[in-house]
Amino acid sequence: MSCDHKLCGNIQKVWLPYEFRGHMKGLKSHPYCIKCGAVKNISSDRAKPSGYFMNILSHLPVTKVQVRLIAKDIEELGDFDDGFSISSFLQEQIFINLVKKYSSLSEFTIKGAL
Ligand SMILES: [Zn+2]
Repeated sequence: MSCDHKLCGNIQKVWLPYEFRGHMKGLKSHPYCIKCGAVKNISSDRAKPSGYFMNILSHLPVTKVQVRLIAKDIEELGDFDDGFSISSFLQEQIFINLVKKYSSLSEFTIKGAL
């Protein structure tokens, strides 16, 4: 999925729960993309390039095959490193789940590498 994201006008903004690194901070008005519907991440917690997570993967005890499977899943997500809508907190959750899916590493081990 690739979208060049066009923001809605002020009047169309939607009130949504505002979350910062998993903590609810009440409702805030969020702009969204009128083309794909993605809601803009308005926190300062910005997405990291997917290469950052590939680098972390290289420090974890996983096989080349596992790395390839995880990389493929990240690629298929398409908007994994879309700075418009994804926060780095959400990326970490996705990354942890994918590593757990393909390896027997614990959440604690994976988090320790982040
Ligand atoms: Zn869009």
